[in-house]
Amino acid sequence: MAIRGLILDLNGTLYFKERVIEGAAGALMQLRDAGYKLRFMTNTDSKTRAQLHELICSYGLDLPIQEIFSPAQATFDYLKKNHFSYTGLLPEALEDEFSPLKRDDTNPDCVIIGENRTAINYQTLDTLFRHLMKGAELIVMQPGRHYFLADGAHLDTGALAAMFEYATGHQGQVMAKPSSHFFTMMLSDMRLKGSEVVVVGDDVETDMMGASKIGAKSILVRTGKYQSADEFLTPIKPSSVIDSIADLPKALTLF
Ligand SMILES: [Mg+2]
Repeated sequence: MAIRGLILDLNGTLYFKERVIEGAAGALMQLRDAGYKLRFMTNTDSKTRAQLHELICSYGLDLPIQEIFSPAQATFDYLKKNHFSYTGLLPEALEDEFSPLKRDDTNPDCVIIGENRTAINYQTLDTLFRHLMKGAELIVMQPGRHYFLADGAHLDTGALAAMFEYATGHQGQVMAKPSSHFFTMMLSDMRLKGSEVVVVGDDVETDMMGASKIGAKSILVRTGKYQSADEFLTPIKPSSVIDSIADLPKALTLF
């Protein structure tokens, strides 16, 4: 089946360390001219779509805001679809966007675990744990264990979620890469099937894994967090490996 759409990872694929990958803007222009539908994804859970858009523009890449997908939209979409009320560690920046949904701190349908560090103390965590024990669903905005800043490694959202999974003995629902919910949301936004799409990214475990869940082909780029021989060290094999996003238009002619 012909490829009609592309799901492109942002960090490490289009830009890295606040700099656009050489040739990225030109490649995107060629892909749009060739008629591909494009969607862009990130696992950053602490920002609204508008904030992400502004950040990407500040790097010098001009993407339409409605093509950017993050755990915020995935979580909102999941709660709305299931008519869920929520409580939990919702990132502060998302409070306005989530205001159409029902917040319930007494008897919630689900507990959201996202990046809200100011809310964390034993009392809060224990209250959330007790909601989960009464049957509320655990919503994991993104499964990252840790992330790096200039001063070293920091605890990430997935690590906190794992604490609740360990305590309750139940797995949470992941809203970001590599969950099928996240990738299916982008597919339905493009009105395409998995077999009509190629996923492009620098991370075998999240980008390629997500592609395999929706039956899409995938291309690994040797930029960002890519480490030499990543494609051989995992059971999830990309369909193809290219040096950078600049080579994507040419690589797609072989699909
Ligand atoms: Mg990446």
